[in-house]
Amino acid sequence: MTYWQEELETMNRADLEKLQLHRLKETLERANHSTFYTKVFQEHAIIPETIRSLDDLKKIPFTTKEDLRNHYPFGLAAVPLQKCVRLHSSSGTTGNPTVILHSAKDIDEWANQVARCLYMVGLRDTDIFQNTSGYGMFTGGLGFQYGAEKLGALTVPAAAGNTKRQIKFIKDFGTTCLHIIPSYATHLAEVMYESGIDPRKDTHLHTICIGAEPHSEEQRLRIEELLGAKAYNCFGMSEMNGPGVAFECKEQNGLHIWEDYVIVEIIDPITLEPVPDGQVGELVLTTINREAMPLLRYRTRDLTHLIPGDCPCGRTHKRIARLKGRSDDMIILKGVNIFPIQIETILMKFKELGSNYLITIENDEMQVEVELSDLFTDDYSQLQRLSKEVTRQLKDELLLTPKVKLVGRGSLPIQEGKAVRVKDLRKFS
Ligand code: ADP
Ligand code: ZN
Repeated sequence: MTYWQEELETMNRADLEKLQLHRLKETLERANHSTFYTKVFQEHAIIPETIRSLDDLKKIPFTTKEDLRNHYPFGLAAVPLQKCVRLHSSSGTTGNPTVILHSAKDIDEWANQVARCLYMVGLRDTDIFQNTSGYGMFTGGLGFQYGAEKLGALTVPAAAGNTKRQIKFIKDFGTTCLHIIPSYATHLAEVMYESGIDPRKDTHLHTICIGAEPHSEEQRLRIEELLGAKAYNCFGMSEMNGPGVAFECKEQNGLHIWEDYVIVEIIDPITLEPVPDGQVGELVLTTINREAMPLLRYRTRDLTHLIPGDCPCGRTHKRIARLKGRSDDMIILKGVNIFPIQIETILMKFKELGSNYLITIENDEMQVEVELSDLFTDDYSQLQRLSKEVTRQLKDELLLTPKVKLVGRGSLPIQEGKAVRVKDLRKFS
């Protein structure tokens, strides 16, 4: 069998839209029980029963992260708390955390969503799945745990950190699949090689699920090469359940976003108008398969575009491109807009460079510090040549010249969770 849920995954557009409309109507009715949406509907004279087509969704205003914060903690609950069985909170990367409630059915549907993703990339109940995400409020822990269990894999809830122990588990238990943040994946691989373990020969790893933070195609290739396994991009956010919102299929050309769970829009973040397919904009999502806390037209702040055309894998759900970053990640320097991922793409092309880097902005100057890889011999003239070439390529990409500093392996900080790639000192001056 190729699909976890063949009928749903390969549904034709007309049937998929019919299902979406049906679920949207149910969702609106449910949302109307929350303090927040009752008020929104009243203020905008929206009567849920008058939403008769998917296009009518546009009559509803956007929901923002601010709305969630302003109605913290339970203002968006659409069912009594008694019906909720779990609460998650976003990791708070960009400010105060937000709260998401789940009913028992929500948890089950979410597990199914993750199981569908894992099945799509070839995981089966014979696999051994090790999860290196923190368990707790961060949805990467429990989200993957329940999904992998639903699939029937043998799960190893290793949780975050303790690299030596992670490696021991991978070897002793014969782990075949890892869920791991990309910045930690390269670190883990480096520690393995340092300890004399070649993951390509000494482990059973065949699949790596990487997500939770932006990463470049070059970084993915590096992870695949280092670990000797296929790496698939996994996108999610607490507000939309967590991991499993969109996931790459084996084609590795865009992430299928499950349209029986969410309605997808891509808008221009300034004009708030829809952008044509293929053009980058902000991802806006409406949950249509959630009871406890539906979200309507939620502005994710994540930037991506829709990939036009059909996917050869046979799944009909739309594909989004690798995330460009959050709108808040954009650095504006001397009038130029820069995303950290552009810098990463260049750095990862150099085999002489390691995977850890840090961008510092101070007084309108950009400094890019990057660790050297083990491949590098510490010959001074070679070092200078390398530094010059990295600077030149960055300049071509960014249209301004950063100061490049090559540093020794292990000299830049590593985070246990999502990597912090940018230090913008202007914000504090
Ligand atoms: P926080 O917003 O506090 O970081 P979450 O843990 O819910 O909380 O993180 C969700 C966010 O992480 C997404 O909105 C997105 O910015 C980022 N993210 C998740 N998966 C990916 C991915 N595969 N590629 C790029 N960014 C990702
Ligand atoms: Zn596909």
